[in-house]
Amino acid sequence: MASIGAPRVLLRRLREIMADQAEPQLVLDKIVALIAANMVAEVSSIYLARENGELELFATEGLNPESVHSTRMAPKEGLVGLIAESADIINLPDAQSHPAFSLHPETGEQPFHSFLGVPILRGGHALGVLTVQNRVSRSYSEEEVEALQTTAMVLAEMIARGDFELGSNDDQSFKLENSLNFTGTALSDGVALGHAVLHEPRVVVTNLIAEQTEVEFERLESAIDALRLTVDQMLDHRDMTRAGEHRDILEAYRMFAYDRGWFNRLKEAVSTGLTAEAAVERVQNDTRARMLRQTDPYIRERLHDLDDLSNRLLRLLTGQTSTSASEELAADTILFARNMGPAELLDYDREVLRALVLEEGSSNSHVAIVARALGIAAVGGVEDVLQYVDSEDAVVVDAEIGEVFVRPSQEVVDAYAEKVRFRAKKQEKYAALRDTPAVTKDNQSIQLLMNAGLLVDLPHLHESGAEGVGLFRTELQFMIAQTFPRLDEQTEIYRTIFENAGDKSVIFRSLDIGGDKVLPYFRHAQEENPALGWRAIRMSLDRPGLFRSQVRALLRASAGRDLSIMLPMISEVREFKLARSFVDREIAHLQRHGRPGPDQIKLGAMIEVPSILWQLDALLPEVDFLSVGSNDLMQFMFASDRSNRRVSHRFDSLSATFLRVLAEISTKSKLHNVPLTLCGEMASRPLEAMALIGLGYRSISMEPAAIGPVKEMVLSLSSKEIEEEIHKLISSETESIRGELEEFAKERSVNI
Ligand code: PEP
Ligand code: MG
Repeated sequence: MASIGAPRVLLRRLREIMADQAEPQLVLDKIVALIAANMVAEVSSIYLARENGELELFATEGLNPESVHSTRMAPKEGLVGLIAESADIINLPDAQSHPAFSLHPETGEQPFHSFLGVPILRGGHALGVLTVQNRVSRSYSEEEVEALQTTAMVLAEMIARGDFELGSNDDQSFKLENSLNFTGTALSDGVALGHAVLHEPRVVVTNLIAEQTEVEFERLESAIDALRLTVDQMLDHRDMTRAGEHRDILEAYRMFAYDRGWFNRLKEAVSTGLTAEAAVERVQNDTRARMLRQTDPYIRERLHDLDDLSNRLLRLLTGQTSTSASEELAADTILFARNMGPAELLDYDREVLRALVLEEGSSNSHVAIVARALGIAAVGGVEDVLQYVDSEDAVVVDAEIGEVFVRPSQEVVDAYAEKVRFRAKKQEKYAALRDTPAVTKDNQSIQLLMNAGLLVDLPHLHESGAEGVGLFRTELQFMIAQTFPRLDEQTEIYRTIFENAGDKSVIFRSLDIGGDKVLPYFRHAQEENPALGWRAIRMSLDRPGLFRSQVRALLRASAGRDLSIMLPMISEVREFKLARSFVDREIAHLQRHGRPGPDQIKLGAMIEVPSILWQLDALLPEVDFLSVGSNDLMQFMFASDRSNRRVSHRFDSLSATFLRVLAEISTKSKLHNVPLTLCGEMASRPLEAMALIGLGYRSISMEPAAIGPVKEMVLSLSSKEIEEEIHKLISSETESIRGELEEFAKERSVNI
């Protein structure tokens, strides 16, 4: 039987066969003959999967040659079907007594008892099955299994590379041709048709068979060393702007990178005669097959991590270390990644990106924030999609509903092409409204502002027709930076923002870090309840150096202009007063140094913590303006985590309770003659915006894409009518008044 050296001999011969560049069928015939001889097997056969899942006998040594291309196993039929389905090995001394055995008499396989079959795997999926059979009843040794697996891998690469066209049918195609659809979470609105680009291109291993095994051992060891180093660095520096955000994953990377078991498996694969990269791929194939069969979500995740790590190792070995951002990309790129950091997304040319699809990524993740800022459709939480998509595959992304179609049917493409046209038409309509003032039918002017947080947001200010920026989330710029921006850098950023804004106003919110907004370079103790923790104004007041340097940068950047700063998470009047004293000190500092400052400074408070609602009479005389952060106010009032999908939509922002609170804020600020804005997400939805106008809000700040639809609503609304209606509705016992408001809009032909 085969000795330890046999796999190497086999591989050497395989290389010779491949170098011959013979006819495809001949190559397969030679391969089966070689396997049979090398493994002292009486039969060796190759079955390949057709699109309909049937497994066709493509080549054989030992079975009836007439049955080649005519014997086909139905999907899941027989041992061959079982191997393809489970992507697992079957090694049996007496195959015919196995319950799954299915006899195809035309092959003449009756006399053969022992059977070894391995899947021909690519991306964890079986493209076919490779078998050997013997008359005597015996179990194949581990070395023989290894040798057959290695051959299967070589075959998989040949098939996938399309080195040869296979066989009898022109419609030869594998599972990767099937159209599939996936559901995830919409992260950034939009609908896109295009072609897939993998953020981290799949490494194509072309050099499978080692010239000198010793050299391959050395290559493997030094690549593993380099891999450990990069993983350690990622963890130590927590460079999450590039590596995605999940510490769990980085920890798992470290665990696997130092795992002896994994390293030993790689070494074993090299010892069979493979190159180091082919060995990584061999072991990776096994991992993927295990991953597909694994039902425990935690273990699946960890296998996924190991798969990622194998890719990193492959890239180190082949020198293919760059992402697709450095490539020349087609203008209809739909980018796929497991996850990515915000800075990585910004490395891409915005002009070519149509959509982003992530296996992970929640709507609060930094990359999602950047995708929204760039105006790219994005869907996250699309599990396992990378296993099924290949670069250049046609893709449709519907980020309205979080749907991704890979290799869509013509009907889906046609339907979406129509949807894209429809949306474009709507956009044209909104663009035409850009310079139309937002005035209700009864002549009430509504100030429509936009939310921003990155420099890339600013072009939207002019494109959308927003009157100004009602909320500039300064922390986003900090979140995507590699290190804490120094005073000069901050000043430069704010100056650029002012320059871009031209004569439109900007309200800067002071740093709202902490909670879920982590700065990669800022050490922050783990908190049990980060949303209720040391964050926003609390951090600014405890670390005044941080706050004051931001205020100083803002003062410097706003020379000759008006400066508005608002403070997040104010829970007590005392906090506002203390913050104001810091601002005053910075103004004095500026004057002492004879530097030019802003013409006017306005300091406002955000209303987003319920405790402040009972202090409005004390707060209002202190502030220059108020802005309601309805996202947080809602989260804290209803004790429902805004980033937890199970509860975030449980309570309606159009509930009578919440609207009564918003009405109270509006009444009080009018009484004190203090300007009021609302800048939470509800302002972006026309129906909610209509309710806010009814409650007396005359200024709202929203995402740029909402300006058009909200303006269209305003133009068709009578503020007096909605005011009367909503005050009636919120004094009732009803919980959500959404239905009633929809009814109102319908009856009065308000465009919502
Ligand atoms: C809010 O809480 O409503 C708000 C506008 O701020 P952020 O979403 O940044 O917390
Ligand atoms: Mg907030």
